[in-house]
Amino acid sequence: MGKNSIGIDLGTTYSCVGIWKDDKVEIIPNDHGNRFTPSYIAFSYAVRLIGENAKNQISMNPFNTIYDAKRLIGRQFNDPEVQLNMNYWPFQVIDMNGRPYIQVTYKGKIKQFSPVEILSMLLCKLKDSAEIYLKERVTVAVITVDSNYNDSQRQAIRDAANIAGLSILRLISGPIAAAIAYKLDNRISVEGNIVIVDFGGGSLDVSLITNIGEGVLEVMATAGDAHLGGEDFNKRIVNYFISEFKRKFKKDITTDKRALCRLRTACERAKCTLSSSKQAFIEIDSIFESIDFHTSLTRDVFINLNQDLIQRIIDPVEKVLRDARIDKSQIHEVILVGGSTRIPEIQKIISNFFNGKELNKSFNPDEVIAYGAAVKAACLSGVRSGKLDNILNIDVAPHSLGIESAGGIMNPIIKRNDTIPTRKSKIFTTDLDNQTNFIIKVYEGERVRTVDNNLLGEFELTDIPPAPKGVPQIEVTFDIDSSGFLEVLAFNKNSGQHNKFVVTNDKNRLSNKEIEQMIKDAMKYHSEDKNVKQKEQARNNFERYLGNLQNALQKTITWFDDNQGAEKEEYERKREYLINQVLSELEEFQINN
Ligand code: ADP
Ligand code: MG
Repeated sequence: MGKNSIGIDLGTTYSCVGIWKDDKVEIIPNDHGNRFTPSYIAFSYAVRLIGENAKNQISMNPFNTIYDAKRLIGRQFNDPEVQLNMNYWPFQVIDMNGRPYIQVTYKGKIKQFSPVEILSMLLCKLKDSAEIYLKERVTVAVITVDSNYNDSQRQAIRDAANIAGLSILRLISGPIAAAIAYKLDNRISVEGNIVIVDFGGGSLDVSLITNIGEGVLEVMATAGDAHLGGEDFNKRIVNYFISEFKRKFKKDITTDKRALCRLRTACERAKCTLSSSKQAFIEIDSIFESIDFHTSLTRDVFINLNQDLIQRIIDPVEKVLRDARIDKSQIHEVILVGGSTRIPEIQKIISNFFNGKELNKSFNPDEVIAYGAAVKAACLSGVRSGKLDNILNIDVAPHSLGIESAGGIMNPIIKRNDTIPTRKSKIFTTDLDNQTNFIIKVYEGERVRTVDNNLLGEFELTDIPPAPKGVPQIEVTFDIDSSGFLEVLAFNKNSGQHNKFVVTNDKNRLSNKEIEQMIKDAMKYHSEDKNVKQKEQARNNFERYLGNLQNALQKTITWFDDNQGAEKEEYERKREYLINQVLSELEEFQINN
């Protein structure tokens, strides 16, 4: 462990990685020199592409270019979120025993990838960037998640990290990472209550955090909307132009996935332009049956198209205030992070809600979360620095956790917004005389009936010594660590018999065997990519060498043609010169290879 612990913001649309180095955070550039990387993976006949290379070729290869994979993790195939998004994605999502998998053609063969595997490829890329930057191996990371991520989603992130060769030092929420970054950089002026709104491409995540002083940041409440993000604005704009195209040209563009991809890219760009201009132009030549589509979008139309979505941003803000029992007048600071908070209308609505309060958005919203994660990684891996002494955060459980009692009723043991890590117990007993086994079903959620909550798993305490009903004392303990991972223990107080249970949701979770296979595959893909890259480099170098030689030779030939009557010394000098040039090119070529 030690110094090479990185902080990763694994985003739905963009990801970013940072590290604590020379007493400050460095955001690590990728191989394009960019400080954040599109969360895109593409497969083609010859190669696998990650980041910019994948995003840039999407309209040429729409079926095999994957984005938004984070929206699938920890979910069942029939989850409404999965079903809804499937209609918009150009890539194919299939049902594999109830779990969503992404089906692509890679190297000419049909292949299925689990969303966890796709995320592991992104993590691997970020890890690679860090290793190249540091010239050292990296194996540990703090990774950020949405604060309302449930147990299945957290487990999925852990599996993805595992496949990428990273062990997780801690999972922290995006808003808390942002708060840490603002705090470290002295960008929060007062002790008091802070509302942090993280509004990205896939989701909205709001936290109310109290800056207690002495460097302690305590989460008071979290809320969010897993179905609201910048991508949803893009969809509205795309639909608007699909209709416009139908009206203008009497043609349905949706039948052509490639055209749709080009439209989607143009719409996202227009949306971003509208954050700084009142109007954006869209010009896509021969988009469909060689029709050139030239049109425009104004900020007012954009706002109209998305009015209801924009309004929804206030709901989780109200919820955290309600849950924390704090009035909005007692909020000292409102911090905005995430790309979608660049939209002026969003800023306006939040500021109005807080009675015209000035919003704090002084940190680069694309980097702030990775920045905070890197600080946390340094703190947890024991880096010594006066600056880090001042940072401590206390997190909360995002959902209530409990077990089912008679009649299918949820019996919560840990409550939503309870501070974590925590360990809580309750005593249960048998319903029947001489009952020898006791089934413990673990649920997550806020509803009264367990059918409405999320079943995390179940286990059985067996061999209970026969006794009349109500006599055995079974103590069930829920232990939740700082990353939000749950462990359940059962203990028969009468017999001293123990049973430990790590919650694994078999419905959603990959098996150990599947993970092992994916680790092997990851290594294979990694070395294949490296070979392709090396081959490409060798080819480029050789091409440049040939070009330089050709150039030198051509120049000499031209001289020769023009100087048919030169002196002996001149010919010899020219010959010498050419030989030296070829030799020095050759030398350079050898040094570079
Ligand atoms: P995530 O963490 O979900 O990957 P980010 O915080 O990186 O998301 O934000 C990405 C989202 O922000 C995308 O939907 C992108 O279109 C949007 N976005 C980025 N810049 C702007 C801008 N200038 N105006 C409006 N939206 C923007
Ligand atoms: Mg984000």
